[in-house]
Amino acid sequence: MEELLTRTQEREEHSQGQVQQEADQAMATRLQAAAWVQRGQLHHPAGLSVQKISRGIDQKGILANRVAVVTGSTNGIGFAIARRLAQDGAHVVVSSRKQQNVDRAVAALQEEGLSVMGTVCHVGKAEDRKRLVAMALQHCGGIDFLVCVAGVNPLVGSTLGTSEQVWDKILDVNLKSPVLLLSQLLPHMEKRGRGAVILVSSLAAYMPRVELGVYNVSKTALLGLTKTLSLELAPKNIQVNCLVPGIIKTDFSKLLYENEAVWKKFMEYYWVKRIGQPEDCAGLVSFLCSPDASYITGESIVVAGFSPRL
Ligand code: NAP
Repeated sequence: MEELLTRTQEREEHSQGQVQQEADQAMATRLQAAAWVQRGQLHHPAGLSVQKISRGIDQKGILANRVAVVTGSTNGIGFAIARRLAQDGAHVVVSSRKQQNVDRAVAALQEEGLSVMGTVCHVGKAEDRKRLVAMALQHCGGIDFLVCVAGVNPLVGSTLGTSEQVWDKILDVNLKSPVLLLSQLLPHMEKRGRGAVILVSSLAAYMPRVELGVYNVSKTALLGLTKTLSLELAPKNIQVNCLVPGIIKTDFSKLLYENEAVWKKFMEYYWVKRIGQPEDCAGLVSFLCSPDASYITGESIVVAGFSPRL
């Protein structure tokens, strides 16, 4: 009953408020654009000013009323992306393999006043993917964006020395799971008129490191997957792009940046002045979800302090 009354009231207010709402939305969009410019000027590794600036315009941000599902989002790059999408107005469903990590991430983001919820989803498990989709639909009423961050590298070693079991695990999680999840979400994304998918590859796709064997291969394949999916989904007005991070300071990359020799070589060779932070990746993903990116698809964009691509 209460819900019915609220809806009726909303309908009545709608026509009076429509003009005002459109003006508010236009203003929010302009503020958002200004915030992006400011972020560029004020950006620093800790990303603290970024957070401050975006607060206040967030609830009517450029992604307002949109719903984003982000896999592998309770830590590192995925968490920064989930936070940024929510700061920019989206309702965000966070997920990862461990319940305690989901609870911690959801609590942290809700404490910041962001609209998030979460569920356990090991992207390699069909039943978990199904639950993630069901939960997003039930609680958010639709899905606009899928950001596939979850990735693994259980083995450091050569491709030829890798067992079939490890090959399967890496390809299942890094390469197949985005496609399998997307195929379940697609009918719902189509209904929304426009959607965006962002895959997460790695600089190792362009510059394989010998010790990362099969991981290199899986991340290179994601570049191809981006191209193929972008063609398949263009007629449905769904853009598919790929984030290609360099070395970003997270638990995942500890072995690389905590190895002084590796990091020194990297900096000397590429003149990189600092290590990347998860927040360095997040703004790009928000942009790729925004209407400003509606004519960009099939792109892989390197966020590494430099780019080895022509
Ligand atoms: P991270 O800090 O270790 O975070 C990984 C996140 O993914 C956690 O929330 C983890 O939570 C979740 N996760 C791990 N396996 C999962 C699975 N099978 N299903 C669902 N969630 C899973 O790692 P990160 O550095 O942010 O890496 C994220 C992505 O960026 C990966 O695809 C990685 O290949 C890519 N990348 C990272 C770097 C870098 O330098 N950090 C560079 C290039 C590319 P649970 O433990 O609870 O599952």
